[in-house]
Amino acid sequence: EGRWHSRATEEKIFVTVRVRPLSAKELSKNDFSVWECLDDSTISYTYNMSDRASFPQSYSFDKVFGAGTTTHEVYEQGAKDVALSALSGKNATIFAYGQTSSGKTYTMHGVTESAANDIFAHIEQNDDRIYLLKFSALEIYNEVASDLLNPESGPLRLMDDPERGTIIERLEEKVVEDKEHLHSLLDLCETHRQVGETALNDISSRSHQIIRLSIESSPRVVSDERPMKSLIAVLNFVDLAGSERASLSHSEGMRLKEGCYINRSLLTLSSVIRKLSEANKGRTGHVPYRDSKLTRILQNSLGGNARTAIICTMSSSNRHVEQTRNTLFFASCAK
Ligand code: ADP
Ligand code: MG
Repeated sequence: EGRWHSRATEEKIFVTVRVRPLSAKELSKNDFSVWECLDDSTISYTYNMSDRASFPQSYSFDKVFGAGTTTHEVYEQGAKDVALSALSGKNATIFAYGQTSSGKTYTMHGVTESAANDIFAHIEQNDDRIYLLKFSALEIYNEVASDLLNPESGPLRLMDDPERGTIIERLEEKVVEDKEHLHSLLDLCETHRQVGETALNDISSRSHQIIRLSIESSPRVVSDERPMKSLIAVLNFVDLAGSERASLSHSEGMRLKEGCYINRSLLTLSSVIRKLSEANKGRTGHVPYRDSKLTRILQNSLGGNARTAIICTMSSSNRHVEQTRNTLFFASCAK
């Protein structure tokens, strides 16, 4: 218990893995589980196959959540620290990364709801400060950003501001009145995303969703002893495109033909995360934030003084071994 707490507060990128249970459909096709959680931070490949030796068999992260874990537990142990740091003025981002149908949306939904509840509980307990919360939400699809609160409003332009960094032109920001209001805004975004889904059935495997909460606070009473100290930070909840969109494990020729399926934002995010992780270990190098919309938008909430949690979702099924390995490889690079 004590261990992850101390690590969670020290590490800039907190990386966890969540295994989802086999679905009824997978069980009916006689799929079986080929991964096992050895302890609360290690996952191991358990199936005997000829390619065994060519891959690492065990992977360790800050935390590994087995199939029996609830989303609330994933939040408490994998995201809460990072989410609440936004209340003390630190930008923060929580990602779900994994192949399509591995549980990203399921996980982010619960994590966002739990974080919203905790944020409002904190606000109620700290009535010596005045809080202003603003909500916005966007989707990036084929490198085009659009407003999830106003899906009909068309593509959003990104602008560079020397002081404030990347600005998203015309993105609506709604002042959040209370907890119920926040939950209703989350529901609205979900509805808008589902409408897009039926129009183009694999939109969620190709698009990134960012729910963004800006949290500002200042003391209710200001005096000489208690000078005005305002805090402002952004908290991002990111449900990424399916990680198979960044997969480079097939032959070059095949990739060239399938080039349009590769998701530039996802690939750039992988490089950015890898560079940041190297920077945390003291190595320096160019971080390619500017190479995609997603990383431009998140630039101020990744690296530097920001806190990041990555929840990698996976199925333990024998059918998904290759993609699961890619996910675990990404997760290892983020450490
Ligand atoms: P993704 O967003 O990665 O494509 P989803 O979150 O939509 O995947 O999950 C795929 C399916 O699996 C959904 O029906 C979801 O309800 C279910 N599911 C995902 N994770 C879990 C879990 N931990 N426990 C139970 N069901 C889950
Ligand atoms: Mg999804």
